[in-house]
Amino acid sequence: MFKLFRYAKPYRAWVAVVVVLMFAQAIGQLYLPTLMADIVDTGVVTGDTAFIWRTGALMLLVAAAGMLCNVFAGYFSSRIASGFGRIVRGEVFAHAERFSLQEFDRIGTASLITRTTNDITQVQQVLFMMLRMFLSAPLMIAGGIIMAVSKDAKLSLVLVAVIPILVGAIVLIASKGVPLFRAMQTKLDKLNLVLRENLTGIRVIRAFNRTERERVRFADANSDLTDTAIRVTRIMSVMFPVMLLILNLSIVAIMWFGSVRVDDNNIQVGDLMAFIQYASQILFSLTMVSMMFMMVPRASASAVRIHEVLGMKPVIADAADAVSGVKPQGNVEFKNVTFSYPGAEQPAVRDISFRANAGEMTAIIGGTGSGKSTIVNLLLRFYDVEKGSVLVDGTDVRRYTQENLRSRIGFVPQKAVLFTGTVMENIRFGNENASAQEVEAAAAVAQASEFIGELKEGFDSIIAQGGANLSGGQKQRMSIARALVRKPPIYVFDDSFSALDYKTDAKLRAALQEQVSDAALIVVAQRVSTIMNADRIVVLDEGAVAGIGTHKELMQSCSVYREIVSSQLSEEESA
Ligand code: ADP
Ligand code: MG
Repeated sequence: MFKLFRYAKPYRAWVAVVVVLMFAQAIGQLYLPTLMADIVDTGVVTGDTAFIWRTGALMLLVAAAGMLCNVFAGYFSSRIASGFGRIVRGEVFAHAERFSLQEFDRIGTASLITRTTNDITQVQQVLFMMLRMFLSAPLMIAGGIIMAVSKDAKLSLVLVAVIPILVGAIVLIASKGVPLFRAMQTKLDKLNLVLRENLTGIRVIRAFNRTERERVRFADANSDLTDTAIRVTRIMSVMFPVMLLILNLSIVAIMWFGSVRVDDNNIQVGDLMAFIQYASQILFSLTMVSMMFMMVPRASASAVRIHEVLGMKPVIADAADAVSGVKPQGNVEFKNVTFSYPGAEQPAVRDISFRANAGEMTAIIGGTGSGKSTIVNLLLRFYDVEKGSVLVDGTDVRRYTQENLRSRIGFVPQKAVLFTGTVMENIRFGNENASAQEVEAAAAVAQASEFIGELKEGFDSIIAQGGANLSGGQKQRMSIARALVRKPPIYVFDDSFSALDYKTDAKLRAALQEQVSDAALIVVAQRVSTIMNADRIVVLDEGAVAGIGTHKELMQSCSVYREIVSSQLSEEESA
């Protein structure tokens, strides 16, 4: 956890201020009982009213100054702690953005969210506690002991007996509570997971009448967390009464033995009163410090989880000697590419080789699960190949920076993803610098103008979260427009036409061929009609290439292709 605290570095100066303030406050606290003893033993005994007034005023002053120090220290501590939280959250977010899909698969989105929010808050809270007690509590304990011993060494034997009892009680309570603290973070993860799945899958859950079962699942996770929280709180709530009991009993003991010693003139009444205050300060500080140490395990469990995110090296990283000057031409080549997903037994694609050239349309067709999206993932370098190589503009994709590589590609994913914002903003996501005309032109090619025109506010209409207020086909066309506005040399459409009706599909392809005639078009499709006119069709079957050629050639030579075609088209159409 302490490794995380380096993120508080920008606040070094403020930390120093807090330490000084708390130090001053502790000194004041230690000084007060002595002043009180003076009033009783000197002022009251001699009847020197002026002395009493003077010392009393000094006490007030010291107390007021101590309070001021405390207030400011509290203020600065929370500024530091929340600033620290902001920095760490920023780091985690920035780091997670560099993750490749494999890291997301590994940590899980729900856990990643808990880690950026709740876990960081835990550490932040401990930092706050530490800032306030780091120096002042040990000082209070040590100073208190010294002062107490100086007032009456013999009476201090009471403390010698009490402190081990207090520490023992605290250790006992802590040993029961701390493991539960750790468990709470994992249970919180679980709760977030269930909640997230429920919110994103609400339609499916309703459609399949699983609401009741999901409610139970959430209730389980919820009460699991609640039970643990209650147990922790119950154990911890014992702490304060026990500590007060020990404190009060020791005061009784001090009074008991002290009164005897006052009788024997070994100690004065004022000093005895001061002694009692020192004893309370010591025991109280001890309790506070141990409370802090009890928060540490929970926070360090959180810190470990944060470090896990920060320490995760993205599997896909830019090469140190990445090339920069490669001219964008729009050529793609797969050379004997084999790839398996992490943990999978079988490769998702095997020994794939094909070319896609600028100015041509290259189609990839094949059944579900035949590896079409995998090829796209490899081209965009969401994953790295296992064997062989993927070349873009004659250079291996691993030699580019990811940004350089992806700037060459306009990608339309299989599942259209839109963001909260206006239609205009969503299309501009592809190219921040696109003018309004360019956006409108892209929408026209993507056959989206018509439905955008029908929206209440046209291009300024708001898209709901996840594009919920658009149909599947409309989302798909938005995401095509987003790729088009980028004007890249390579376009990749991953099954992007399947949500469109035949007519729109045909119109869109015609417009595309006109508009982007000099770019390389890579079109993944299920429908033969979509790709019949492609310059080159790559037929995939269970992760391997079954044939490459034009429609005519494949009809002659490739049985897999013939099967696909005959299952979709009537005889005369395919001829
Ligand atoms: P499609 O041709 O339908 O686009 P994919 O390329 O998506 O097929 O999938 C090819 C194979 O790889 C399938 O068998 C699928 O189960 C597997 N697969 C796809 N994505 C993953 C993943 N993230 N992790 C593990 N296996 C995957
Ligand atoms: Mg797919």
